[in-house]
Amino acid sequence: MLNFTVGPVMSCDEVLEVASHSTPYFRTPEFSDIMLENERVMLELLNAPENSKCVFLTSSGTGAMESVVMNVLNDNDKVLVINGGSFGQRFSDLCKLHKRNFTEIKLKFAAQIKPENLAPFENQNYTALLINMHETSSGLLYDMDLISDFCKRNNILLIVDAISAFMADELDMTKLNAAVVLTGSQKALAVQPGISIIALAPEALKRVDDNPEKCMYLSLKEALKNSVRGQTPFTPAVTTLLQINTRLQKIRTGGGGGGGNFCNLSN
Ligand SMILES: *Cc1c(COP(=O)(O)O)cnc(C)c1O
Repeated sequence: MLNFTVGPVMSCDEVLEVASHSTPYFRTPEFSDIMLENERVMLELLNAPENSKCVFLTSSGTGAMESVVMNVLNDNDKVLVINGGSFGQRFSDLCKLHKRNFTEIKLKFAAQIKPENLAPFENQNYTALLINMHETSSGLLYDMDLISDFCKRNNILLIVDAISAFMADELDMTKLNAAVVLTGSQKALAVQPGISIIALAPEALKRVDDNPEKCMYLSLKEALKNSVRGQTPFTPAVTTLLQINTRLQKIRTGGGGGGGNFCNLSN
């Protein structure tokens, strides 16, 4: 059977092979090296700005969305949420739950964002914008150049949910001037579910550092502190992280998803 859903996406044979072994103990230099490599390659593939960091949370993609709303944003932020479907709605729900001061730009289902949607929000002292680069519920890829220019012009922190866009669409963190990009293991990365990934540019790192801690399990302060030595604060989905390592190495060496039946298409 072929699985054509947006995720979990079928994995190639090399990635599957990784999961056929017992999970190793992970507080070891060997596992730390793998984690540090995962971070390096992720930042390289995203073309993240210098001194960016990348952390791996054991959660589905929504865990990364929630972590960013809790750890990168704060009570003084004036937040814009682009809501064009169920994943935009999720950012709104998270902002509401965590009592962020936010305004929704609500778009019709599958409607592209246009300059006129953004015009009322120019020079209004907004400080952060949340967008799902690809709104998976409708299949719409947002005009990221438009969003990026708007954020640059208004000095707004750009936070990009690229859970379904990473490895499927062109994504350059430096070019977009994105402060945060988040993704997950089970979409185009084509690894089993369980890990979400957050890349943070220096301006986002500074915010995490300055903001009060809101939670323990999804704390980015803790995740970042541990990532310096290639570790995580709590037991991670070790096997999924090993699979990510195999997959990232293949992508970096131009192998894409190749190897398994059908997997060549995933790159
Ligand atoms: C899949 C997806 C999510 C949610 O991911 P989960 O892993 O199910 O929590 C969030 N945003 C986008 C754009 C997605 O495609």
